[in-house]
Amino acid sequence: MAWRSHGTTNVDLIAKMQSNRLIKSDSVAAAFRKVDRANYVLDKAEAYRDSPQSIKYGATISAPHMHAHATENLLPFLNPGAKVLDVGSGSGYTCAIFYHLVVGGEGSADGEASGGKVVGIDHIPQLVDWSVENLRKDGLSDALDSGDIKMVAGDGRQGWASEGPYNAIHVGAAAPTMPQPLIDQLASPGRMFIPVGEHAQDIIQVDKDSEGRVSEKTLFGVIYVPLTDQKKQLDNDI
Ligand code: SAH
Repeated sequence: MAWRSHGTTNVDLIAKMQSNRLIKSDSVAAAFRKVDRANYVLDKAEAYRDSPQSIKYGATISAPHMHAHATENLLPFLNPGAKVLDVGSGSGYTCAIFYHLVVGGEGSADGEASGGKVVGIDHIPQLVDWSVENLRKDGLSDALDSGDIKMVAGDGRQGWASEGPYNAIHVGAAAPTMPQPLIDQLASPGRMFIPVGEHAQDIIQVDKDSEGRVSEKTLFGVIYVPLTDQKKQLDNDI
């Protein structure tokens, strides 16, 4: 990334991402403004910097510009009423963003039943518990209590079939190879945003059309923590 969009406040961070054209649509900007990144980080003084930050257990909350890219990319599939799976949900930040688009999106008041739902899955149970605390601090207790946001512990490489299919799947960790269960759990139509690769990683956009045909498009190179085994991740957490 040639520039960074550091902000002094949450509103400022989002304004910078808009002026740098990382956030292009008003609905994405509105959703980002509803989510205070300070509720999802350990070092609050650095909350509005456009940088990744350690959240312990070998995990990081991604930089805001990556969350902006992912949300803009998935936006055509993040309509009110859509179902979303967030794999490697970590801090819970992206679950909150997706929630505001699919449940509290344009044309429906926040909390109004739209049928939309966000499932976040992470394989570190402590992170799942922490993400629930973060979402509550960020005003999303009702969404958690109603099940509009569901945070589960499990191996995200297998997806979460019982709530699928999903109109959008966001993967926040790099898979060494494309996980077939996630493609299987995409709705027709649906889109997945997933980093793939072991050393050199690329974001792959996987589209399933209304006939169930799957296509892949390579978007850009990235560096994410790996989508891996729990033990491997914790061993690497030095
Ligand atoms: N998107 C989140 C976290 C990104 S870090 C955020 O921005 O806050 C990647 C996350 O993927 C970590 O929380 C890590 O625990 C999780 N992860 C890695 N491998 C996983 C797997 N096999 N199943 C589920 N989660 C996994």
